[in-house]
Parts: sequence; C-alpha cells; structure tokens
Amino acid sequence: QAKRWGKGGYAVFDQQMHLRAVKRLHLEIELRQAIELKEFLLYYQPIVSLSTGYLTGFEALIRWQHPKKGLISPVEFIPIAEETGLIVPMGKWITQQACRQLKLWQEQYNLKNPLQISVNLSSKQLRNSHLIEEIDEILAQTGIDPSSLKLEITESMLMENVDIAMNILIELRKRNIELCLDDFGTGYSSLSYLHRFPVTTVKIDRSFVMQMQPGNSNAEIVHAIITLAHSLEMTVTAEGVETQLQLQQLQWLECEQAQGYFFSKPLPPKEAGTLIQAFPCWK
Ligand code: C2E
Ligand code: MG
Ligand code: MG
Ligand code: MG
Repeated sequence: QAKRWGKGGYAVFDQQMHLRAVKRLHLEIELRQAIELKEFLLYYQPIVSLSTGYLTGFEALIRWQHPKKGLISPVEFIPIAEETGLIVPMGKWITQQACRQLKLWQEQYNLKNPLQISVNLSSKQLRNSHLIEEIDEILAQTGIDPSSLKLEITESMLMENVDIAMNILIELRKRNIELCLDDFGTGYSSLSYLHRFPVTTVKIDRSFVMQMQPGNSNAEIVHAIITLAHSLEMTVTAEGVETQLQLQQLQWLECEQAQGYFFSKPLPPKEAGTLIQAFPCWK
C-alpha cells in the first residue's frame, strides 16, 4: 500500500515527522531555559462549597509567561515536561509556590477557616523516590497545615504503577494530606476499585458536568458518581461548572464542592487575593 505512494509520499511523511521533531526539540530547549529564567507562574481557580457558598480553596494551575508568545497553556508544555523529566523539578517548584501563596493569604487575611490549596501531580512525580521527602520539606518550610494541601492525581497515574502509587498515597495520608482523584470518569476503572487507594475526594471531569441537562444521560452519570462516592465516604467536587442550572443540579445531588467559570476563571495571585476578601464569611 505504502509503496504505491512512491518516493514522494515517503519524502512528505519524513518531512512532516522531521518538522514535528524539530518543533518539539525547540520547545524542550525553551522549556529548560524558561525554568532558569523563572518564566512560570501559578494561576488560582476558586473552589466553592455548594452547601454554604463559601470559598473553600483554590486549585493552582501553571502558566508559562513566554517573552514572545505570551501566556502559554499547560496543555501545550506539561506533556513535554513529563516526557523529558523536567516535570520533577518543576513540580517541586509548583508545590512550593502554591504552599507559600496559601501561607501568605492565611497571614494577610487572618483566615480562621484555613483555605485549601490543590496541586496537580504528574505520574513522573509519583515515581520520584524523593517525593515524600520534598513534600515534608515544603510543609516544614511554609508551616502550612498538611490538611490544607490537596494533591490531585488521575486514575491512569494510579493504574500505571499500582504498588508504588499505593505506598506513596498511604504515606501522604499518614500526614493528613488530602488526595483528590482528578478528571474522574474519563478513564476505564471503576470507583469501587479505585476506592482501595486512600483518596478523599473525587473530582468529576468537566466533560460530564458541562453536558449535564436535567434528565439526560450525563446528569445520570454525575448522579451515579456522587451516590457511589458518598457510599464510599468520599467527597465530590465538580469541575467545569459554567451555568446556574448546572450549579442547581449539583446542589440537588448533594455534591459538596464546585469549580468552574460560573464562579471564576483561574486568576493571577493578586486577583485571587481580592476574591478571598470578596467571598462571604471567609473569616
Ligand atoms: P485539570 O487539573 O483538570 O484542571 C482543570 C482545567 O479546567 C484547567 O485548565 C481549568 O482552567 C479548566 N477549567 C476550569 N473550569 C472550567 C470551566 O468552567 N470551563 C472550561 N472550559 N474549563 C474550565 P488549565 O489551567 O488549562 O489546565 C489544564 C490541565 O493541565 C490541568 O487539568 C492539569 O491536568 C494540567 N496542569 C495544570 N497545571 C498543572 C500543574 O501545576 N502541574 C501538573 N502536573 N499539571 C498541571
Ligand atoms: Mg486538577
Ligand atoms: Mg480536573
Ligand atoms: Mg480536567
């Protein structure tokens, strides 16, 4: 089949592959420089309690402030950071920065109800044998309560290396660090199976939340996830909440927390701080 395309076909294919490889290599070089030049920053998206309407915390989401290309989304560079292993030092910086920011806010606004900070981990970090040490160090340095830190992991990260993941999660839970199963519903494993891992929260993927209409199949799926999570004594956060109707449905289903553009987009630190002040009863 391929032979019929003739030599030209191969040449075009080779050229495209070559271009992609060059682009990728270039991005990798830029990524290494960006770490040196400290071009990364964290944005913060609020997470809200659906029973009280109070702000309960933020998810830290990385951005790359590129000198020429502007603000670059993590979807563009996290996969390359993972492949190259750069995610390990980056991830340490992310956790450090997020915990520092939380400490600053707690002091600045004299928070009696300590907010939580959620940090995304990647699978390479979970396989880094120094992860626990690093997190202990960060907690000691910043002085935040371990229960104020919530680490987000995906089911594929757990399934990639069941034993290692299990041991690390147990260590994290011993410290009272919260664990959240991110993007839930997009993988293939059942919640009953995942319950073996000591996760405390399930975060329903936004693809289900966004397509939820009263009575449709997505609403049924969300309902089922919430019911099962509750029976397994896990709390539920819904991501990607954009409308009042979605919010009302989630409240009716007794989902604990929500996050999404309906409340706010991810914000730079200063604006997130302003939002802490604006939310009801944050003290
Ligand atoms: P995620 O952890 O599932 O984060 C949620 C993503 O959904 C964020 O995209 C957020 O901006 C977006 N989002 C939240 N609410 C809404 C909404 O109402 N509508 C829509 N359309 N989108 C919403 P973002 O910031 O582009 O991050 C994408 C992914 O990149 C994250 O998905 C996470 O997997 C990864 N990522 C981001 N920051 C980090 C990080 O610091 N470390 C690691 N390892 N991964 C990160
Ligand atoms: Mg997340
Ligand atoms: Mg998510
Ligand atoms: Mg997601």
